[in-house]
Amino acid sequence: MATGKEIVVSGIRSTGFLHLGNYFGAIRNYIRMQEDYNCYFFVADWHSLTTHPDPKDLRGNVFRLLAENIASGLDPEKVALYAQSDVPEIAELYLLLNMLAYKGELEKVPTFKDKVRLQPQNVNAGLLTYPVLMSADILVHRAIKVPVGKDQEQHLEMARNFAQRFNTRYGEELFPEPIAFNFGDNLVRIPSLDGTGKMSKSENEMATLYLNDTDELIRKKVMKAKTDSGPAEPGAPMPETISNLFLLMQSVSAPDAVDNFRLAYENQSIRYGDMKKQLAEDMVAFIAPIREKAQALQQDVPYLRRILKDGAEKARASAAQTLQAARALIGINYY
Ligand code: ATP
Ligand code: MG
Repeated sequence: MATGKEIVVSGIRSTGFLHLGNYFGAIRNYIRMQEDYNCYFFVADWHSLTTHPDPKDLRGNVFRLLAENIASGLDPEKVALYAQSDVPEIAELYLLLNMLAYKGELEKVPTFKDKVRLQPQNVNAGLLTYPVLMSADILVHRAIKVPVGKDQEQHLEMARNFAQRFNTRYGEELFPEPIAFNFGDNLVRIPSLDGTGKMSKSENEMATLYLNDTDELIRKKVMKAKTDSGPAEPGAPMPETISNLFLLMQSVSAPDAVDNFRLAYENQSIRYGDMKKQLAEDMVAFIAPIREKAQALQQDVPYLRRILKDGAEKARASAAQTLQAARALIGINYY
C-alpha cells in the first residue's frame, strides 16, 4: 500500500466481546482514520494467548471481533484488516527486537505486574515480552501513529525505545518512532461502572458495557453503576464515580442532556436515578444497532475469511519490505 499517506497500526486482542472502552479508545479513531491514512488494523490473536490459551475460544473470538469492527463502521476495503498470526514477519521482528529489550525494564512494566497479580499460576514469558511483540506489530509497518487507549501509553514509549535502539545499533533510521494517537486532546480511558479500573474484555464483566450486551443487560448494568449521596455543597468537587458517569454520558448522549445534568449537579438538584435512566437509554440507542449488525455479519464466515485473507496479503507485503531491510542491516543476507 505505497500511497504516500501516513502509516497507522493498531490491534485488539481476541479475548472476548468489544466494549465501550475499545470503541472510544481505539475503534472510533480507526474509523476516522480509514480515509486519510494507510491503515493496518489487526486482531491480536497471538497476544491473546498470554492470558487466553484455550483453542476452543480462539476462532470464534477472532471472527466476532472482525464482525464487531465492521459493524462499528470499519471498511475492510479501505484498510488492511488481518489476523496477527497470518503475518509471520511480525514473529521474526519480535525475535530480533527481543535482543534489544532488557529483562529489568520488562519486569517493571505496570501491565506486566498487573498480570502477575491476576494469574500468578501462569506468568509466561509471553506476558513479560508483550511490549516487544506489540512493538513488532507497529514497527513491522514502520507506522507513525497508533490509535490506542490510555492503557497502552507506556507500551508505545517502549516501542519508541526499541525503534531508537535498533536505529542506533545498526546506524540507519529504519524505524520511525511511533506515537499513541487520539483525535481528541488526550488518550481515552473509559472507566468501569463500579469505578475500580477500566472497562475490559476479560475482567470485571458486570462493570463493562459490551457491544454485544442486550438492551436489558445494558439498563441493568447502568442502573447499578456506583454513585454517592449527592454533592454536599454547591461547587463541591466531583468524586470519580460521578465524573465517570458524566464521561460515559458525554460519549453517547446529546450535549444538551449532559449540560442539564451538569447544571443540576452544580445546583445540587441532581437525581442520579434520572441521570442513569437517561444514560441507559442513550447507551441502548448507541449499542443496539452495532450489536445487531455484528450478529448478522458473524454468520457470514466465508465473507469474514475473505477479509482476513485480503488483509493478510496487504499486511505481509508491507511487513516483508521492512524485514528485508532489517535483515540486511543486521547482516542476515547470505545469498
Ligand atoms: P483485555 O482485557 O483482554 O486485555 P482490553 O479490553 O484491555 O482486553 P485490548 O484488546 O487489550 O482490550 O485493547 C484494544 C484497544 O482498546 C487498545 O487500543 C486499548 O488501549 C483500548 N482499550 C481497552 N480498554 C479501554 C478502555 N477502558 N478505555 C479506552 N481504551 C481502551
Ligand atoms: Mg488489554
